[in-house]
Amino acid sequence: MTQATIIDGKAFGARLREQIADEVARLKADHGLTPGLAVVLVGEDPASEIYVRNKGEQTRAAGMYSETHTLAADASEAEVLALVGRLNADPAIHGLLVQFPVPDHLSQARIVAAISPDKDVDGLTVTNAGRLSSGLPALTSCTPVGCMLLLKDALGDLTGKHAVVIGRSNLMGKPMAQLLLAADCTVTIAHSRSRDLPAICRQADILVAAVGRAEMVRGDWIKPGAAVIDVGITRFPSRDPERAAAGKTRIVGDVAFDEAKAVAGWITPVPGGVGPMTIACLLQNTLVAAKRLHGLEA
Ligand code: NAP
Repeated sequence: MTQATIIDGKAFGARLREQIADEVARLKADHGLTPGLAVVLVGEDPASEIYVRNKGEQTRAAGMYSETHTLAADASEAEVLALVGRLNADPAIHGLLVQFPVPDHLSQARIVAAISPDKDVDGLTVTNAGRLSSGLPALTSCTPVGCMLLLKDALGDLTGKHAVVIGRSNLMGKPMAQLLLAADCTVTIAHSRSRDLPAICRQADILVAAVGRAEMVRGDWIKPGAAVIDVGITRFPSRDPERAAAGKTRIVGDVAFDEAKAVAGWITPVPGGVGPMTIACLLQNTLVAAKRLHGLEA
């Protein structure tokens, strides 16, 4: 039986980060400009803390300036908005993101609306979402951008392919669908109310799963030879009892990997597929935002 080609997002992401670091060095030397990224974390969600720490480390490793602002879980919305306002106005900061989810008493929509679209490196503001869907230059959500880079590297031209995206969030499913449409795919967006999801998925030349339900997509949902991009992350306790006792987790994707790789043509693993592309594309977005804010070609 033929097996799918495993798409190595870890290696691709590492190469992309090296290219970004080279460009940051040139930007510093030629223009005295150091791109800066600020990340705001509200509360103590352990998964968010890991993401935020990784973002800070990789930002510095690329030669950029990094700031992390941690607010207490009971911070008021006024405090969060005031911090966002200060960072919007700070000339050392070119990229600004608030790590979601935020505690329930805060409005994600109002926080996103407060972020300057020019610094919105998560691509969540209405301005950037509108620009993306209108075919104008936009800062676009990092994970979908990373998925597109992997797909184009694996498949080349995507014209005319039928892409099915499972999930319709503003962060993932919708921008993913827009990027596939812009690449001339025929796009279907599926979600929790879609009927007969396996039948929809079986039509896909490109299947992107962005749900957050471990191993929901089975091998017999996949068209032979399809490219399968697994975005989902569900955390389980580590298989090693000692590590589990210490609170360590392992992550599982939305796709039943062993079944799927026997059918698909290409597949991303979890971990090591889409995940490493996300931070690399965040750095890329910060670089682009810095250049645009300084009137340089991005
Ligand atoms: P989200 O906001 O919770 O959206 C999940 C989507 O899945 C929703 O549109 C939902 O449909 C749909 N869904 C839920 N149950 C379904 C079902 N049974 N059948 C079909 N669709 C179903 O999550 P998200 O932010 O988009 O993220 C999706 C997953 O990707 C999560 O696991 C997240 O952790 C992961 N993620 C990974 C990265 C990375 O770097 N690797 C980055 C971002 C996100 P409705 O709209 O109908 O509710």
